[in-house]
Amino acid sequence: MKIMTKNVSWGMKPWLLAAALFACSSPATSPAQTVEAESPRYAIAIHGGAGGWENLSPEKRAEMLASLEKALGAGRDILAKGGSSLDAVEQAVRILEDAPNFNAGRGATFTATGQHQLDASIMNGADLSAGAVAGVMTVKNPISLARRVMTDTKHVLLARDGADSFAKEVGVELVSPDYFWTDDTRREFEKAKAEAEATKKATEDGKKTSAVQRPDHYGTVGCVALDTHGNLAAATSTGGLSMKKFGRVGDSPIIGAGTYADNKTCAISGTGVGELFIRNAVCYDVAARMRYAGATLAEAAAVQIDERLPKETAGLIAVNAAGDIVADFNTAAMPRGMADSSGRFEVAIEPDPTSTP
Ligand code: ASP
Repeated sequence: MKIMTKNVSWGMKPWLLAAALFACSSPATSPAQTVEAESPRYAIAIHGGAGGWENLSPEKRAEMLASLEKALGAGRDILAKGGSSLDAVEQAVRILEDAPNFNAGRGATFTATGQHQLDASIMNGADLSAGAVAGVMTVKNPISLARRVMTDTKHVLLARDGADSFAKEVGVELVSPDYFWTDDTRREFEKAKAEAEATKKATEDGKKTSAVQRPDHYGTVGCVALDTHGNLAAATSTGGLSMKKFGRVGDSPIIGAGTYADNKTCAISGTGVGELFIRNAVCYDVAARMRYAGATLAEAAAVQIDERLPKETAGLIAVNAAGDIVADFNTAAMPRGMADSSGRFEVAIEPDPTSTP
């Protein structure tokens, strides 16, 4: 199923940028910038899923970049005014959930039975509090429900009907299931159904699925941020893998797999094959390499993206307590954006042509 352009250099480090905001911070790997030491530091990054995106029309591309700019700008503005990283990541992810070009909220992919089951999580690096929801079907912005799980319950993860009931109880905005459909996702669903039908006899369909599924793109959204108070936060939201079955839940609502934040290390949000992220505890592993092995953020992320996770399966964004941002992926592209208190504000989809192999 994976369709990739032929001229992509898979060994290439796609987009990696460490913005050292203080002269005393660790050496940056590629363009580094120093700002006034007294400037309040903040930094934010977003992603819109790792994958191919090679069939993107100019119109869709423009829409996608506009959505990335809107989400990044909203998060950046919150941070610039001294707001919390939690508010920034929630707001940025809400905007990406509302944008139909990403696999989260409106525009989420279909399950094998033609439904939408949404997963999301949020984590506060200041105290390791976290909230997550899995398989919700009526919640317009799952990330906000995840935040209510974090703040209004003693639990971390609520699933399916229980999570939808909790949504009613706390009064987050509910929608009917057809809210999540778009013409594009409907078309993709019909195509995927036809393909599944065609290969049915060749596989033990329904009993055994490939460990590594590689759709064209994953499309999950995420945001990580450092606020001027020194607090890190991470948020991730997704419709999950296209044509998922049997209540499958991926990494996005699993703290340590698809989302992690700890002021001592970093905030991180992943995208790609959720099963791999869960098995490799990817987001926690990046934080742990920093904490226990003294790796830099970029080094820790690269171990996962370049060494542990198979090519074409993964991407992540991360920010550390110094405001260094990393966006790294082993797929052809990853819609993403980054901004910080030095005035940087960038969005992109394809690899940075100036990045080093
Ligand atoms: N990681 C998500 C999942 O496996 C998919 C994605 O990144 O789009 O559910």
